[in-house]
Amino acid sequence: MEDKINVIPVNDIDKSILEFLQISLRKIFNKEICILDKINVPENSFDQRRNQHNANKILNYLIENLPLKNIQDINLAILDLDIFVPSLNFVFGLAVDFPRICLISIERLNPLFYTYFNYSLKSKSLTLRLTKKEKNIFEERILKEAVHEIGHTLGLNHCSNYKCVMYFSNTLLDTDKKGYNFCLNCLNILNRK
Ligand SMILES: [Zn+2]
Ligand SMILES: [Zn+2]
Repeated sequence: MEDKINVIPVNDIDKSILEFLQISLRKIFNKEICILDKINVPENSFDQRRNQHNANKILNYLIENLPLKNIQDINLAILDLDIFVPSLNFVFGLAVDFPRICLISIERLNPLFYTYFNYSLKSKSLTLRLTKKEKNIFEERILKEAVHEIGHTLGLNHCSNYKCVMYFSNTLLDTDKKGYNFCLNCLNILNRK
């Protein structure tokens, strides 16, 4: 059985984003991309004090609950909730390499996020207000963070090349500066695995 990439929407993710990821990830990884049924975010992941979801808890929930038909498959969950790990204010995503499960949050990738942050508007309503240019920026960021987390599931660590997709994004500026491809060094590591 050929290994594939499963994209799992958590709660309600815009269909156009899922289709964009399906087409783009297929080109980059040359694998079949399946969009699975949506799942709901686990109730215990919400941290009331921080008003954010704990990414570790969501990842653990996925590890325990995803039906892993083929252990080689890569599973990418996509959510529009603000997520954190205890040591950081927020994260764009999180991954483990066995089983190959990762998640990304598109919440802070939205070009209007910081404009509307104080109004606590959900990204769902923000997506509708994006211009074509903003939507392109949004999608490009989503693709970069998705490829980055998938890279971790394949065993890659962070890369010091700021143009490489495996460069660690501390801010959106880092995400915007890097590309969505692996640098030669990271590609070599992938090919040796
Ligand atoms: Zn990373
Ligand atoms: Zn690299």
